[in-house]
Amino acid sequence: MSMSIEISFSKSAKVTGGLAVATGTLAEPVSASARAVGASDQLDKAIKVAGFSGKSLTTVDLLAPANSPADRIAIVGLGDLDKLEAHDWMRAGGKIFTLIGKVDKVTVLLGDQEAPSAEATADMALGLLMRAYAFDAYKTKKGDDDDAGVRKVKIVFQHSNATACKKAFTIREAVAGGVELARNLVNEPANVLGPVEFADRAKALEALGMEVEILTEKDMKKLKMEALLGVALGSVRPPRLAVMRWQGAKPKDQPVAFVGKGVVFDTGGISIKPAAGMEDMKGDMGGAAAVIGLMHTLAARKAKVNAVGIIGLVENMPDGAAQRPGDIVRSMSGQTIEIINTDAEGRLVLCDALTYCQEKYKPAVMIDLATLTGAVMVALGQHHAGLFSNDDELSQALVKAGETTRERVWRLPLGPDYDKMIDSKFADMKNTGGRYAGSITAAQFLKRFVGDTPWAHLDIAGTAMGSPSTEINQSWASGFGVRLLDELVRANYES
Ligand code: MN
Ligand code: ZN
Repeated sequence: MSMSIEISFSKSAKVTGGLAVATGTLAEPVSASARAVGASDQLDKAIKVAGFSGKSLTTVDLLAPANSPADRIAIVGLGDLDKLEAHDWMRAGGKIFTLIGKVDKVTVLLGDQEAPSAEATADMALGLLMRAYAFDAYKTKKGDDDDAGVRKVKIVFQHSNATACKKAFTIREAVAGGVELARNLVNEPANVLGPVEFADRAKALEALGMEVEILTEKDMKKLKMEALLGVALGSVRPPRLAVMRWQGAKPKDQPVAFVGKGVVFDTGGISIKPAAGMEDMKGDMGGAAAVIGLMHTLAARKAKVNAVGIIGLVENMPDGAAQRPGDIVRSMSGQTIEIINTDAEGRLVLCDALTYCQEKYKPAVMIDLATLTGAVMVALGQHHAGLFSNDDELSQALVKAGETTRERVWRLPLGPDYDKMIDSKFADMKNTGGRYAGSITAAQFLKRFVGDTPWAHLDIAGTAMGSPSTEINQSWASGFGVRLLDELVRANYES
């Protein structure tokens, strides 16, 4: 049985059964609101026995005494209140989710003197929602019961300024929706989500007031996107380019643009990958998923910005019609590319999408996201995405947004020495630069297609999928990039 969470805020919420959750701090492990649910003695005993001190993300969970209005009482430690940032509140929200158990009603008591701000309360609710995400659509048996139904759980946050909480939460709901969308797309298997189906998901964003245009193979042939089209040759499923536009600012304001790699499945093509772990390549559209998720969020919270999201959607398969190593293709920009390894396909998809984006929309900045190289995991593990940029200001803004959201990025170098590594004997460039500095040479390749536009490339191969579980994500697909770029837009580009 899966869970559907309904969140609300109320000034006068009374505990009537279910779980009552209060917060504790280092200064005051058992808050007055915890005592108010009538279990003072039990709580004092429990925190002693459990050694609970209010330390961050520790919990005490106990059956309520007979005279309490609650069935269960729990305390979630927050640690040192003065040090808490938005992300800490989100993690506390995630922790609350883990306490739900079998109850269908949770009252979170925040009515203390040290009550969190409305923003912090809304952050807690967001963290709870993100933690609650589960991709279980294909499980016909869920857990130990055979009931495939959905269990509704009501979460009420008791806060003295419920109206402000609600307002702050509306924005975060838009964020949660975008993250959920991105996670769903990455988790979804490739037999269900081909390029055409993926483009339909983009088209569905029209419901939020976005303009969405889908370019077909024929349209892309006219535009001479031979690099992107070359990747799709081995698949029976035709490629698509989806263009999403959100106009939240003055019509003439230059847009910010986001470009995503959407390889719905990457076998490697003729340069086929080994079998072990190849199933993970259903996630090779993590960049495109993040772009759709971000566009959803911007539209849902009516961001005062003009934004363009462009995603290149292809499937990379080996086949009699597939492109070969040694082939030379002409990109939309006119530059020619020698294919050395058909598994270095992401950059071939992105280069034409980047050219199209600049020529058509003349963006103020252009940021691409791609699960581009395994090498970025060798360099940074799964805790930072690789950042490459031709613009220091944009880089700094991205690093800052990464710290705020904890979707962290780490800047790696670009330069002429690396650029030389992709020069080709037969064409303007080749699509790989060899084993060394694999993430950097991939970025150098993209840089050849961005001209003077301030640009950043995020290599999210290590962070979009299979990254370690956290208090706010237990899913294989993390939705990485949605919160990062939403924060970037909020802090830098909204009027
Ligand atoms: Mn590949
Ligand atoms: Zn790939």
